[in-house]
This record gives sequence, C-alpha cells and structure tokens, in this order.
Amino acid sequence: MFPVIINFWIVTEMVNYQNYRRIDTITLEPRSGTAFRIQESQVLRLTDVEGSQVVDLVSYSEPAPLQYLSSPRTMDYNNKIYFSSGDMLFSDLSETMWTIMDDSVGKHCFLFAPCDQKMFELSYDVKEPHPNCFDNLSGSLSMFGIQPGQIFIPFNIFMHAGIKESGEIEIKPPLSKPGDHIDLQAQLDMIVGISACSAYKANNYSFGPIRIEVFSMTGG
Ligand SMILES: [Zn+2]
Repeated sequence: MFPVIINFWIVTEMVNYQNYRRIDTITLEPRSGTAFRIQESQVLRLTDVEGSQVVDLVSYSEPAPLQYLSSPRTMDYNNKIYFSSGDMLFSDLSETMWTIMDDSVGKHCFLFAPCDQKMFELSYDVKEPHPNCFDNLSGSLSMFGIQPGQIFIPFNIFMHAGIKESGEIEIKPPLSKPGDHIDLQAQLDMIVGISACSAYKANNYSFGPIRIEVFSMTGG
C-alpha cells in the first residue's frame, strides 16, 4: 500500500461555473492514490498539473447495493471507445454515474485494467515491489469497505491509446499538457477511487501530480 494523500482544505470562492463553489482540493502526489465520497450533482475536476499523466478512476454507488462504473456499458451506450465533453459514463446496472461536463484534452479511453505488480513484472521485467494503480486503489478504497475483487476497469483519463486498422493497440504519450483538466459531474452519490498511474509507456516515462477538486452547487 502506498501513501494516501488526505490533506484537503475548504475554500468558498466562486470558480468558473456559475452557482458552483469549490469545496475540496486534494493534491495527489505522483504514483499515489486516494478515495473519497462525492454527492450527486457535485463536480469532480481532475487537473494534470505537469502534463502527460494518466489517471485511473473507479466509482461505486451508495448506499448498497453497490453499482460500479462499467467500461463495457459505457462503450456500448456511447457506441465508441474514446470519450469527451457531453458523454455519459454508466454503471454495470446501466444507470448514469457521471457526465463529462468539460474537457480540455478531448480524448480519454476506458480500455485498460489498472496497472498492478504483476503487470510490471510481465511488461517491464521489474523484480522489486513497484508502485501501481491496483494497490493505490485497493489500499485507498479499503476504508470504504470496497474489496480488491471489486476493482474492475477504471476510466483511463488522459490516456492516449490508438487502435490500428489491424486491431492492434498502440499506447501513445498522453495528449494532456500542463494544466489540462476534465470535469465530471456525479449523477449518483458515490465512493470514488483515483490513482495517478505508474506505467511507464502510458505516461511517457515520467510521473506527475494530479490536482483533485470537488465543486458543489451553492446552497446544495
Ligand atoms: Zn496505472
């Protein structure tokens, strides 16, 4: 398990969205993870502070029975594999979990399992324990009772995967530049897990922090 960053503070100034105020900010250190609750209608903004940093996002509805964010449902209902502003992300029970309100990059995918220790051993010949998204997510989500076996395919934010004519997948450097962001509006009350990815190729061989902000409707 790697460090869970929980240093947040509350601010009240109005930002960008009329009728929304920022209530939480978390700075996620490179290659670390965190988990937190978000309420329906709140907006989650993820900012790639230095650029070229992939983020894995999973979420689970509350209260139980849990629904989880589903890659196959989302690709099915949107009829595509890349996502951006205006797209909705669905649960395994076909309910809308998130709406992408704003996106300065324009292309995110939902294809890849979270990197884990075994992936680093198989793909990078790593012998020692290595930071990875699966451990970041499972460690952070455990405080909410989410088990490792309930972590499925995360939304691969800022990840740039090309699909060749042959069907071959090509992992490219992220398109995100310093300060690029994506805004996701929660459509349900949820537990959210976030990890700043440690996979070399997907992150163009460098790792940066992710700023996590939550906005709430004023009076809400
Ligand atoms: Zn990863």
